Amino acid sequence: EAIVSIRNLKKTYRTEDGDKLALHDIDLDIAQGDIYGIIGLSGAGKSTLVRCINGLERYDEGSLKVDGRDIADLSTKELRKARRSIGMIFQSFNLMPSRTVAGNAELALLDSGLDREARASRVKELLGLVDLSEKAQSYPNELSGGQKQRVAIARALANNPSILLSDEATSALDPNTTKSILKLLKHLHDTLGLTIIIITHQMSVIKQICNRVAVIEHGTIVEEGKVFDIFANP
Ligand code: ADP
Ligand code: ADP
Repeated sequence: EAIVSIRNLKKTYRTEDGDKLALHDIDLDIAQGDIYGIIGLSGAGKSTLVRCINGLERYDEGSLKVDGRDIADLSTKELRKARRSIGMIFQSFNLMPSRTVAGNAELALLDSGLDREARASRVKELLGLVDLSEKAQSYPNELSGGQKQRVAIARALANNPSILLSDEATSALDPNTTKSILKLLKHLHDTLGLTIIIITHQMSVIKQICNRVAVIEHGTIVEEGKVFDIFANP
């Protein structure tokens, strides 16, 4: 039932001034269909955890299974394939300025094996999902921050991932735009059955959309549970 299952995870960065312990004793289960928040201050280890989950970073000890498979056991080729089942969005959108909205959404499909026509039809579908069909031929610099994040969401969903990882994706947006992006994520969760993992330093984001939350401090989880229980005002 857990789509992400982590036991006793440890991650150290080797640096010029010695080893830097970034994560330790991490135990975490994320169930299929959760909108799971991971909250903590800058430097707590959130990005490192995300990069371990999507296989961008190898870990030192413990186990980390996504869909029942431990990323540590996969070959580079298998890992590349497994990473397709995880979509990612970021604070900085990471769009290509020289490509249109449609062109950016298409980027994730270039090595999917689909021909040009199938890609165009999938892009149309994706832009419909994020309500950006009229902007298909616009360039990123013609878009608002919220619209840019919608393009990034379309691109992240291109290969039908079962998990969407959001790394501070609303941190650069104003409160109203944040609300509309979170509303879109909730809608995608409800309609596509997506499991969503939201990394943030903003409590308001967790309260608006997440059902469960883990609080991370100095590289480890210090509290975990239902958002309602953890952040209930007594
Ligand atoms: P965050 O928003 O997660 O706090 P940072 O600004 O700390 O991001 O880090 C930005 C990038 O720099 C990340 O890719 C991170 O892995 C890397 N980084 C952070 N701290 C160090 C460090 N002490 N040495 C080398 N790279 C680092
Ligand atoms: P967060 O995302 O919560 O801000 P990070 O995962 O970026 O935290 O960082 C956790 C810790 O690991 C921090 O102390 C950071 O400086 C360190 N760190 C992150 N990336 C690197 C890196 N590439 N090399 C060395 N240290 C790093």
